[in-house]
Amino acid sequence: MPGTIEKSAMDRSGIGGHPRGLTTLFFTEMWERFSYYGMRGLLVLYMTTAVASGGLGFSDRMAAEIYGVYTGSVYLMSIPGGWIADNVLGTRRSVLFGGAIIALGHYSMAYPSIYTFYAGLVLIVLGTGLLKPNVSALVGNLYTAEDERRDAGFSIFYMGINLGAFIAPLVCSYLGEKVDWHLGFGAAGIGMTFGLIQYRLGQGRLGDIGKPPALERTVITRNAIRGAAMMLLCCGVVALLWFGPEPLRRNKMTIIGTLVAIFLVWMFTSYLRPEEKKPVGVIVILFFFSIIFWAAFEQAGSSFNLFAQRFTDRSLPAGLVTLLPEALQRQVADGFPAGWYQSVNSIFLICLAPVFSWFWLRMGKRQPSSPAKFSIGLLFVGLGAVLLAVASASLGSGIGAGSGVVGPWWLVGVYLLQTIGELCLSPVGLSTTTRLAPERLTGLMMGVWFLSISFGNFLAGEAAGDFGSGEALIRLFTRVAAFPIGAALLLLLLIPFIKKLTR
Ligand code: GLN
Repeated sequence: MPGTIEKSAMDRSGIGGHPRGLTTLFFTEMWERFSYYGMRGLLVLYMTTAVASGGLGFSDRMAAEIYGVYTGSVYLMSIPGGWIADNVLGTRRSVLFGGAIIALGHYSMAYPSIYTFYAGLVLIVLGTGLLKPNVSALVGNLYTAEDERRDAGFSIFYMGINLGAFIAPLVCSYLGEKVDWHLGFGAAGIGMTFGLIQYRLGQGRLGDIGKPPALERTVITRNAIRGAAMMLLCCGVVALLWFGPEPLRRNKMTIIGTLVAIFLVWMFTSYLRPEEKKPVGVIVILFFFSIIFWAAFEQAGSSFNLFAQRFTDRSLPAGLVTLLPEALQRQVADGFPAGWYQSVNSIFLICLAPVFSWFWLRMGKRQPSSPAKFSIGLLFVGLGAVLLAVASASLGSGIGAGSGVVGPWWLVGVYLLQTIGELCLSPVGLSTTTRLAPERLTGLMMGVWFLSISFGNFLAGEAAGDFGSGEALIRLFTRVAAFPIGAALLLLLLIPFIKKLTR
């Protein structure tokens, strides 16, 4: 369809002189992320709240584990989700169906019962698997490979992600924590519904991109069955390893590690062509470091969220409180919602992303290499946890607020450091993967990148299970700091080797 590509390549009538389709995709992803992060901010707090107070009364460990399985599965599912788009639905319809399934999932959680709670989580996992990788792919399709607006287009899109992620906790955490948990989940569903309506109405702006693959009906049917089987297989493996028989549960990390090792050996010995081995080798090295990064970064919604709830002074200034209507005063008597801290990462990201692109552009050729940026990213995410370990240590010593809580700015500092880390690592990971991947393997290598995020999330849940108080808290955050900082140093040592591989 050269005509179409030309059309959108020349189209400058959307946001910031970009193709009009970007406007539609910007708002679709903004609302999808609104629903995702709005619900995510509530999830652990809802599970750990006592039944008498409207929660599920789970232990911290169980809640962290479910949280990790959920977020890990969301990213895992993007691999079959991408495949289904390429081989069955086309990216465009995948986004539509995915969005509808996500909305259903949130509405399911808005109904107070344990069955609808779990059903909702599964629906969101499946829906996000269909939507998330494909909405990004659609953004890519708006531009030709040479289009100079391409990177800028993705930056604008990333702003949409973070705009949704910024607003969501403000709304959903307030409703969920202060009024009713299920109202918060419902608000997430309403956000996704806005996104769907907007997507339907704005579809015309996408032109001809993302249409279903031109395959025969029988082939499509066969692929559909395969795609569904892939999704079921992923769900099944996760269910067995996390909720299955005890020996499987106990050894899940060993089992996953072995499967990954087998896959790597197979790929390098019988699948890759000789000239592909070096660049793919680099992607594999970065894969392991990326896991460590996300395992630390994704403490945000679990252990950091619990820290905000239990150990952070969230009281509002008394002068401000007296200005509020009486009903509101009662709601904020024990402080602002803990989930509001979930917005801090996004607001920093929105402010700092332009600064970073300006800075890298200005440094030009003198800027750090991609693996060096990766290492800096790991360092900063580790430093964030160092700050929280210090805050935890000060809890017992009576520095700060003194009454078993720390001041409200500690977590803001933690998220600032994390965001700097994210800006050094996340875009670099994506662009390095797409740049190094041999052309016939782009999809597979994108899958590898998503898989690293997925494994990072699984690991984050395991780690956050050690949440506690006193020594346990300090130990947890020290570990969350030590791994990425150690990894940053190791990666620094590996840079000459990596450079040799990419040459
Ligand atoms: N915050 C970004 C998003 O939700 C990136 C997070 C990630 O890739 N793990 O898309």
